[in-house]
Amino acid sequence: MGTRTEVLVIGGGSTGCGVVRDLARRGVDTTLVEKGTLTNGTTGRMHGLLHSGGRYAVSDQASARECIEENRVLRDIAGHCVEETGGLFVKRPEDDEEYFQEKLQGCRDCDIPAEVLTGAEAREREPYLAKDVEKAIAVPDAAVDPFRLCVANAVDAENHGARVETHAEVTDLLVEGGEIVGAEVTHESGKGPREHGTPGEVEEIYADHVVNAAGAWAGRIGDHADLDVAVRPSKGVMTVMNTRQVDTVVNRCRPKGDADIIVPHETACILGTTDEEVGDPEDYPEEEWEVDLVIDTLSELVPILQEARTLRSFWGVRPLYEPPGTGTQDPTDITRDYFTLDHEERDAVPGMTSIVGGKLTTYRMMAESITDHVCEKLGVSATCDTADAPLPGSERPGDLEAAMERFGLRSPVARRSAQRLGSRTEDVLASCDPNPVVCSCEGVTRAEVRDAIDDSGTDLNAVRIRTRASMGNCQGGRCAHRMAAELHPEHDEATARAALDELWAERWKGQRHALWGEQLSQAMLNRAIHGATMNRDNDPARTDDAVDWDAFDGGRSDAGEGEVGEEGIHGD
Ligand SMILES: Cc1cc2nc3c(=O)[nH]c(=O)nc-3n(C[C@H](O)[C@H](O)[C@H](O)COP(=O)(O)OP(=O)(O)OC[C@H]3O[C@@H](n4cnc5c(N)ncnc54)[C@H](O)[C@@H]3O)c2cc1C
Repeated sequence: MGTRTEVLVIGGGSTGCGVVRDLARRGVDTTLVEKGTLTNGTTGRMHGLLHSGGRYAVSDQASARECIEENRVLRDIAGHCVEETGGLFVKRPEDDEEYFQEKLQGCRDCDIPAEVLTGAEAREREPYLAKDVEKAIAVPDAAVDPFRLCVANAVDAENHGARVETHAEVTDLLVEGGEIVGAEVTHESGKGPREHGTPGEVEEIYADHVVNAAGAWAGRIGDHADLDVAVRPSKGVMTVMNTRQVDTVVNRCRPKGDADIIVPHETACILGTTDEEVGDPEDYPEEEWEVDLVIDTLSELVPILQEARTLRSFWGVRPLYEPPGTGTQDPTDITRDYFTLDHEERDAVPGMTSIVGGKLTTYRMMAESITDHVCEKLGVSATCDTADAPLPGSERPGDLEAAMERFGLRSPVARRSAQRLGSRTEDVLASCDPNPVVCSCEGVTRAEVRDAIDDSGTDLNAVRIRTRASMGNCQGGRCAHRMAAELHPEHDEATARAALDELWAERWKGQRHALWGEQLSQAMLNRAIHGATMNRDNDPARTDDAVDWDAFDGGRSDAGEGEVGEEGIHGD
């Protein structure tokens, strides 16, 4: 079966979502295909730092300038995806004074607002900073929610006529006469509403141009047409702590190295990271030493991290690109810049452009530059407006405060709900009465869970990503089953059970790396509640045998006459 589009974008991470939005807003008929859910790749496994540029102010000033520019743009167009945490670059006694001064000067050179704080002033902002932190540079770092950001881009693209297909994997490129003319896409049976592809179907999508935005997988897409896209995937660990030990992004002020950043994100802090080249973006070792390293090293900055409860760890893979001939051995030396590879110019294979490298913070700018490039090829003269047009949900920021008042919810729940829902707050929260909190760790109400189910169907992991339900201290222990219950009565029991199993499997994946101290107790409690009390480890509903309810009414099978059994049957 063949379909047509002007541009086919491969990959639903921040880059692909940014590109499809930009193209659609310029009136180009565009289709995006993503093999998993949106943010399935690196975008869903990053730190959540909206860079101020401070990090690159010494080593790469061009990137630093791009970061501060886009940092300002995203605060404007996607305020509901950004938390204004601020950031600190802190100096310990063993850190180099000269480097501290270079960082400060670098920030000023790049137009990044930077203020020097004494150790005492820094501790006033962040009381858990180590006593021997000597001083700090305050910069406008922030926390960004990559899930909401990508979804908002995709929704805006759809509102402008784009087709966005998830669970749709490019399994081959279509090449005719030496030119790439589209891709073969295999539709999978992933959860969520599916408006276009039928699971199991193979669709040939013909396009005037293909954009390869597959991140760390971009090389594999290139392989389908014998194109060498030299992505060098580099893994990094992030470890999630149970509370916000800091409310500000805390960076170590030193040239480079592992384990030098703490990002407060929602109810947690995310520690990171490492930088190790891997051969395969999906299959690489998740190693204990990486987790130990981030906790031990970052405890030098914030000592209570050593005693804090570790919830889980996860890994992401950087889509680093090394231009031919560079031959860098150390992945930390590979540039974080992005590259547009026009395969017509580079390889004499027209029809496709690959976009590799970059950062989430600069995704919109990257998208603008690729879209300019593609529009030039297609002869489209419309200009980019994505730096000024607000993303869905970010209009009318005043709605946030008003909604808190109107729904009379306790302020943290209302504030967080409103942050997540943006301008949809009123409609969503009013849709459910009563509206109890389903996930108490994250303060997620039933209305939000149901709203996410309306969009994501039975995929409770997609509901989790949209709402944060099950992502807190208990990792779903107290709410996973409540989330599954919200699928009823639209979905049958077997579907709800399967969805709960999938959610559990996903929750367990990261907890495996945090099984000590209080989190071990929590995991044991979760097992006791769900495995034993709710019988999930020996679920009678999974067998074909009907449950013998009479046996329950009749009491134990070995009970003697006139004992419990008789009382049970004739008691009333
Ligand atoms: C540890 C770590 C921490 C980071 N922290 C930050 C940070 O704090 N701030 C920041 O700005 N940046 C950060 N980054 C960088 C940032 O996350 C990435 O640069 C960005 O998310 C890359 O987005 P992308 O869209 O290019 O790639 P991806 O998000 O990986 O998207 C590519 C998509 O292509 C899909 N795909 C692959 N193959 C196919 C196929 N055959 N068919 C269809 N789809 C396919 C994948 O499923 C994936 O969803 C971090 C990166 C790492 C690894």
